[in-house]
Amino acid sequence: MKAFVMQEIGRVGFMEKPVPDIGPRDALIRTTTALICTSDSHTVQGGIGPRENLTLGHEAVGVVEAVGDEVRDFRPGDRIVVGAITPDWGDLASQNGYPAQSGGPLGGFKFANSKDGVFAEYFHVGDADANLAKIPHGISDEAAAYCADMLSTGFLGAENGSIPVGGTVAVLAQGPVGLMATAGAKLRGAGLVIGVESVPGRQELARSYGADEIVDFTREDVHERVLELTDGQGVDTAIEALGADVTFRTAVEITKPGGTISNIGYFGSGDFVSIPRVAWGVGMADKTISSGLCPGGRLRMERLLRVLGGGRLDPTRMTTHRFSFGEMERAFEVSDQKLEDMIKVLITF
Ligand code: ZN
Repeated sequence: MKAFVMQEIGRVGFMEKPVPDIGPRDALIRTTTALICTSDSHTVQGGIGPRENLTLGHEAVGVVEAVGDEVRDFRPGDRIVVGAITPDWGDLASQNGYPAQSGGPLGGFKFANSKDGVFAEYFHVGDADANLAKIPHGISDEAAAYCADMLSTGFLGAENGSIPVGGTVAVLAQGPVGLMATAGAKLRGAGLVIGVESVPGRQELARSYGADEIVDFTREDVHERVLELTDGQGVDTAIEALGADVTFRTAVEITKPGGTISNIGYFGSGDFVSIPRVAWGVGMADKTISSGLCPGGRLRMERLLRVLGGGRLDPTRMTTHRFSFGEMERAFEVSDQKLEDMIKVLITF
């Protein structure tokens, strides 16, 4: 089969690979639609260390091609989505409620990390009954593909943010994950959602997903403006959806005592993340900092699909570019270099 791989740090391309074998509890999936992610670029840049001919990609939907003898609920022909994270559900971290950390910190992150990813004609899924979800009629492959990571991660930002009904929320950066955090905050019942973003197309999408106010950090001071918008109080929840020191610091500054800084950003460099000491109440301001990696699993995917099915959210508005799998090299370049106001690049197989 044809696979799109990271040949080594900084180099990508196609190669032929054997169709994966499956064990008794696994499934083989024929890929139909996939999305390229900023994380794929991080991986190619060396974010998880060197890799040789590792198939990229972790956001996909497909059709079940084959299942192992012990798989109960899925059969060849089922149209499915699988989370970007495919945990080991028997692991102690999973039993503790944190399946993304199964097998060690971030251990649930297997596609394009500890095993081949989904940018191939077929891919392997372990623990199929626990990791696959059937896509209901009426939900497109494209919409469902957004559940794998964008909805799961964005909504986690809102969930970990403990947003009170009617509460105030700031979402720092409106990339695809930040946009879904904005949508998630609205779905969680926030009374005021402030989107921090400078790119006009992303500002517009943020409004369409529920941002009541937009703060453009290139034109105004985010800290000051958020205080103005919240009568000097700060927000109940600040969602950090970028992964940069400056946004993290701002998130701590604009959160009121008793509030939560919910991080879903990827901090790819440096040894430390700095917390502004005074804004953190010298360590005593009752400000909670939470972190998480997009949860995977069948139940999680089923819940996200239910949100799409209710017509409450259309993630496909984030698709700015479409390519066939054969055009993957160009598609990856567009995503990697954020060309042509790229937000998300969709691949059809
Ligand atoms: Zn992703």
